[in-house]
Amino acid sequence: MTEQVIAQELVREHLAKLHSPTQRPAEEREALRERIKALLKAKNAVLVAHYYTDPELQALAEETGGCVSDSLEMARFGRDHPASTLVVAGVKFMGETAKILSPEKTVHMPTLEATCSLDIGCPADEFAAFCDQHPDRTVVVYANTSAAVKARADWVVTSSIALDVVDYLDSEGQKILWAPDKHLGDYVRRETGADVLLWDGACIVHEEFKAQGILDLKKVYPDAAVLVHPESPESVVALADVVGSTTQIINAARDLPNKQMIVATDQGIFYKLQQTVPDKEFLIAPTAGSGATCRSCANCPWMAMNALENLAEVLEHGGNEIVVDPDLGEKAMKPLVRMLDFAARR
Ligand code: SF4
Repeated sequence: MTEQVIAQELVREHLAKLHSPTQRPAEEREALRERIKALLKAKNAVLVAHYYTDPELQALAEETGGCVSDSLEMARFGRDHPASTLVVAGVKFMGETAKILSPEKTVHMPTLEATCSLDIGCPADEFAAFCDQHPDRTVVVYANTSAAVKARADWVVTSSIALDVVDYLDSEGQKILWAPDKHLGDYVRRETGADVLLWDGACIVHEEFKAQGILDLKKVYPDAAVLVHPESPESVVALADVVGSTTQIINAARDLPNKQMIVATDQGIFYKLQQTVPDKEFLIAPTAGSGATCRSCANCPWMAMNALENLAEVLEHGGNEIVVDPDLGEKAMKPLVRMLDFAARR
């Protein structure tokens, strides 16, 4: 086991101990849900939740007129919704993105501790130095980055639009500097043939999926389709029937004729998958092949920090407000708006 993996395991265990919400009795949870609904209304707030968050939060977002989606749609929804307050259930860069795009709105999160290994692995100063070494390249960063890293970029992309953007830039003869996810960046490079220089970052959840585990599972379910998020390693992507963002995975599950699906992404997505196609069976892609270092539950420890309890708390008492320096926000907004405009044109 490498030191990095051991560290990841320790972080995971630590976070799980610190933040797993106590399972309350059903009637208490119902009361909590009702309180949150009333507070959202009273505070003119809307709940924007990512597919990887707890199913209870996703259901609440849907029941209260909010949104459950991938980070691209979360950004667009938050910007266009008339509510004066956005409550973003997800990880910190999602709250920052919401604030950058809607500086006039108040943005809260159930917790400010929920981060992302991609964001952590791409410090703004080191990234700026990397960009300075390659001034001839167009800087494309994944949405899973801090406001400061976005401010240094020419383009921000999400996994649902990365291929289209890089393909377009390549057709314009531009060379790309990509950060931070090396697996997604490499996938984009392979698919588009563009000249892409990669930053060395990875998602601790998707990196754990194992090709051998999927092959073994396919022996049991030979007719199952394999749906893979492109933050996964190349060997896993190579086994996919469909590679795509969370939304693209949900659409593929709906459209493919297969009755069983092996899914390589965070298992929070199973709520929406089951809701979209209740007659199909979804199997989580294994993370424990031979020589595996982790039996992860394919569950992002930071997404799991969002819970009914801290959501109610933040709505009741405020706090956990996202603040972005206005100058930085203005710079970061440009590549974000470029992405949203590009997506709208498509
Ligand atoms: S699943 Fe991976 S990319 Fe998504 S927030 Fe968690 S660590 Fe980041």
